[in-house]
Amino acid sequence: MTTSNDEPPDRRLHVGPALSRLNLYDLAPAQLQKTLGEIVFPPFRIKQIVQWMHRRGVDAFDAMNNLPKELRAKLAERFTLEFPHVLERTAPASDGSQKYLFVLPDGNRIESVYMPMRDRTSICLSSQAGCAVGCTFCVTGFFGAGRNLTPSEMVGQFFIVQREHDVPLELMNVVFMGMGEPLLNMENLVPTLDMLYTNVAPKRVTVSTSGIIPGIDELAKLDRRPNLAVSINAPDRKRREEIMPITKKYPLDELMAALHRYPTDRGREVTIEYVLLAGYNDSPADAAALARLIHGLRAKVNAIPFNEDPNLPKWMQRPTDEAIDDFVDALVESGAHVTVRRSKGREIAAACGQLRGKTERKLPQRRVDRALRTEPAEIERDVVHRERR
Ligand code: SAH
Ligand code: SF4
Repeated sequence: MTTSNDEPPDRRLHVGPALSRLNLYDLAPAQLQKTLGEIVFPPFRIKQIVQWMHRRGVDAFDAMNNLPKELRAKLAERFTLEFPHVLERTAPASDGSQKYLFVLPDGNRIESVYMPMRDRTSICLSSQAGCAVGCTFCVTGFFGAGRNLTPSEMVGQFFIVQREHDVPLELMNVVFMGMGEPLLNMENLVPTLDMLYTNVAPKRVTVSTSGIIPGIDELAKLDRRPNLAVSINAPDRKRREEIMPITKKYPLDELMAALHRYPTDRGREVTIEYVLLAGYNDSPADAAALARLIHGLRAKVNAIPFNEDPNLPKWMQRPTDEAIDDFVDALVESGAHVTVRRSKGREIAAACGQLRGKTERKLPQRRVDRALRTEPAEIERDVVHRERR
């Protein structure tokens, strides 16, 4: 597929690397059945292949050990099952969270985060290799636009992190809160969701957006809808325009109307993300204004203390713990539901793009090349090695 500058800006960042063989993880489930149906007989073999892929996340045909050898060879001739390659993992934070830096076949780098919690585990996925939305407090926005991730690149982040930590699938939550704006990549997001739903129920999947209204309405129409999280980040239009220029295209009042339209049946709520910037949007009066803004919405606020970074404006700082408490108390008094992300690990998840930002200039090319050559089995050995140390 190619893109053209004549297309509307929302649709422009589009494609993955050109591969000569089709990656089967880039196909939506129905299309996968159809494609396999053309060369795989008898039909029960198709079911086996789909199970290996969507249930187990295997990334080599040879691992499909209940298939005849000739069929595996035939598949490998025509197709790939390639996932992104792990370039770096941070040491686990005090709460066990770990950040991953992946390299894609075209050299782009993206991040994911593993976040264990007491009774469940979340994996935070990237949806684009950059972001054109340009929020002024965000490192991914600072580095600018990047192409859309393909379904294999999104589902691959999920399976690699899940496998490395051996997380039971029934305890898994998935959040699209990594690099990029998922609702500007709808065409790849929807098949990715369909693949993930094999293991993770829609109520355990959350898509976070900066407020792309057409995308919210499209998501609302899906039969199997994920939870919606929206980065509001300012209690009024003027300040939101300052830190989130996308507000000029999708005004705050129209965004709020779209949130009211989003179906929140079966006890679900919309999550309102709110990055707390010291002295800017963190006063008790701001909390009261935010509560008024979201009044009548089935929503909970997720207050995220700003994560500082050398690439971001110097005036942007994390509020003191006392200021955070005062903000939260004022919100609760106004009748809002609120949670705060305080632990370090949780916060690194909210600031995806920072690990890539740190390494952008200093990673030697040979490290990238090596990761691209690494076979999955070698990656597994690498993990074992790290655990032993
Ligand atoms: N593009 C989507 C999802 C990725 S950003 C969105 O904007 O919602 C995920 C979350 O990280 C957003 O709520 C965003 O406001 C927050 N975030 C970005 N940079 C941050 C920073 N420096 N500190 C704290 N949170 C940040
Ligand atoms: Fe893009 Fe989200 Fe960062 Fe804004 S906060 S620049 S939408 S990734």
